[in-house]
Amino acid sequence: MKRFFAVWAVAVLMLFCCGCAAGGPQSFKVQNVDTVMGTVLQQTLYISDRETPADQEIALLLRKLEEERLSRRLETSEVSRLNQAAGEDSGSAVSDFLEEVLKGCLEIWQKSGGAFDITLGAVVSLWDIDGWASGENQGVFAPPRDEQLRKALESCGCGRMKIEGGRLYLPEGMELDLGAVGKGIALDQLLVYLREKNEITGAVISLGGSILTYGQKPDGESWSVGIADPEDTASIIGTLTLEGEWFVSTSGDYERYAEADGIRYHHIIDPATGYPADSGVRGVTILAKEGFLSDALSTACFILGEEKGMELAAGCGVEVLFVGKDGRITMSEGMKAYFTAAADHSRGE
Ligand code: AMP
Ligand code: MG
Repeated sequence: MKRFFAVWAVAVLMLFCCGCAAGGPQSFKVQNVDTVMGTVLQQTLYISDRETPADQEIALLLRKLEEERLSRRLETSEVSRLNQAAGEDSGSAVSDFLEEVLKGCLEIWQKSGGAFDITLGAVVSLWDIDGWASGENQGVFAPPRDEQLRKALESCGCGRMKIEGGRLYLPEGMELDLGAVGKGIALDQLLVYLREKNEITGAVISLGGSILTYGQKPDGESWSVGIADPEDTASIIGTLTLEGEWFVSTSGDYERYAEADGIRYHHIIDPATGYPADSGVRGVTILAKEGFLSDALSTACFILGEEKGMELAAGCGVEVLFVGKDGRITMSEGMKAYFTAAADHSRGE
């Protein structure tokens, strides 16, 4: 993990002309890899004007979103300010932007029967999940004790937060953690940016486990988005073939984890227990027309497992694909139109 981040922390920028689309304007392919919002940002942009610093603008936009709104770590953000005000009778003023996000999260919390819960900050901190991301504590990790988790869980629960008259009221000790939706929210913002930039004719942008496709390749070919094999993340179980604007989010037990005494703990917590969810799946991929939904629902469906997750996805109008612990692949009917299994991955449907 440490090595992985060391490699990716260095921004790599490659710029080269990829020729002309048949009869269309000249198009330049820009590829950029960077670290943003505590995860890897990979951009492939097709731009008609070579001088446009779109990749830089995109990275800047995401950093701003993290610093000003979403980060739980940086004191400058609105989420940090709201967390600091937990327990205050007068609550705290919440921006229109974050109010909409929080209301969306409450809706998914309700629809998922409480499985998706953005108030698990205290539990996430106990597990030190953000520390795993940076690889800082590999080798010295010790899981929290049962009684610590029980105590932390007492300060969690979306049902105990209230939004009223432009103010947010969090009970004492409650901490918001938007880690399960931040990437999707960010990609929603990027879609707005891309639509305004006429010079950008096509893009695939991935941020951690969430991906946005936009526009077209110069040759008119479809976008092809690979889904990682949880058993061997260097290979894929298959691809999604997509035209135009889509959001694809994957939640997997291989994305962030720590090990202690031979036991592997991953980063998606079941609010019913405070422990990593164990619903029989190793990976869930959501295909949606909205980044927020794709990210929130991949996390929610991971916790709920195949049967309940399938129902939740159908109820929210998105497509879903599960990779079970046994490697079996199952998916919603609609997903079948987009998914092609890799040649050596024909298990399941
Ligand atoms: P994702 O990778 O999108 O599935 O999100 C996982 C992240 O969301 C974790 O690193 C935590 O910060 C946070 N999280 C963990 N469990 C939950 C949960 N049950 N509901 C909402 N957020 C969670
Ligand atoms: Mg998510």
